[in-house]
Amino acid sequence: MIKTQKNGIMPTGVFTPARTTRRVIPGRIAAMVATLLLLASFFGCVSRPAEPKRYERVFLDVFDTVTTVILYDTGERSAGERFDQLHALLLEYHRLYDIYNAYDGLNNLYTVNQNAGKSPVAVDKRILGLIDYAKEMDVLTDGRMNIAMGGVLDLWLQYREAGLNDPGSAALPPMAELEAANAHSKPGSIVVDRAAGTLSITDAQTQIDVGAIGKGYAAQKATEAMEQSGVTSMLLSIGGNVCSIGTRPDGTPWQVGIQDPYSDGNLCVVQVSGRSVVTSGTYERFYTVNGKRYHHIIDPETLLPSTYYDSITVISDDSALADALTTGLFCMPISQGQALVASLDGVEALWVLPDGTQAQSNGFSVYLVP
Ligand code: ADP
Ligand code: MG
Repeated sequence: MIKTQKNGIMPTGVFTPARTTRRVIPGRIAAMVATLLLLASFFGCVSRPAEPKRYERVFLDVFDTVTTVILYDTGERSAGERFDQLHALLLEYHRLYDIYNAYDGLNNLYTVNQNAGKSPVAVDKRILGLIDYAKEMDVLTDGRMNIAMGGVLDLWLQYREAGLNDPGSAALPPMAELEAANAHSKPGSIVVDRAAGTLSITDAQTQIDVGAIGKGYAAQKATEAMEQSGVTSMLLSIGGNVCSIGTRPDGTPWQVGIQDPYSDGNLCVVQVSGRSVVTSGTYERFYTVNGKRYHHIIDPETLLPSTYYDSITVISDDSALADALTTGLFCMPISQGQALVASLDGVEALWVLPDGTQAQSNGFSVYLVP
């Protein structure tokens, strides 16, 4: 399932995810430039390094969404190597955090879910890192972002998919089933053993779902890896989960359009350098039952799609935090959300309420492009 892009990257104007522009220098001009460079070097006056150029790549095979990368690099070959490096890394995270598929020779979160109530599973450190972080986020959001809710979320997924396939018989999951599943949503049933390098689920009926945080965590780690390997100017969007490195080469910040929940346009445009912008919205994944829309963020209190907001955007220097927060904030009233965001250094948020009105955290306007 390919999800449509949410937040759009705005390099100069309006960004369209499927577009891959690359400026090709016609052969003759290239030959002239080469000759001039040769002459210049002959006279000993070449001193400036090549100007970085803009390269763009789209991946369709990670995290069930559209991933777009914009990179400024001095040459096509080195940009291509960077893209390949990033793609390989994202594929690794995708496989590790996949709860739906098994891969030969790999213990991933699917393997862990299959072994619920049975035995601990030896897993990659990157899985332990994600789960430890998700547990912290569970505490931070007062249980609103809970990865142990897999049973409840799976019921919603099944009914949503059935309803999308056959809209005439679309139905809601029965509350009794949701409640029965929710009896097994305790984060404490998920046990990380760092010393043994294992992850276990002690309750046979508990299932892990990292849909709320996996993409953001992977985006953050992959961005850090690219930065460590020398990338100085990059924008990565995994399905609207946006991370940035540095600024554009002219020193101006990256511009990111925030999806309007009610139209194809932008609600606003924010500018960031080295920060992440993440949006969750009710318009992303939903189905309709008796004329009413039911979306994919489930309030742990009611076990129903949260009704507080239509979209939430979080800006932070950590994309994992931003991702976890968008989901957690979605499931709490605005006063509690405002207090939570205010308590976190360097985190800003924008809430769109169901009546279309907006609320911003104190420092959000700093990022707004006027
Ligand atoms: P998206 O990644 O689709 O933009 P989110 O980051 O808000 O949106 O994650 C939504 C996904 O998280 C759902 O598809 C589901 O797998 C999972 N999820 C939904 N509600 C919760 C919740 N309250 N706590 C934890 N995970 C949730
Ligand atoms: Mg999220």
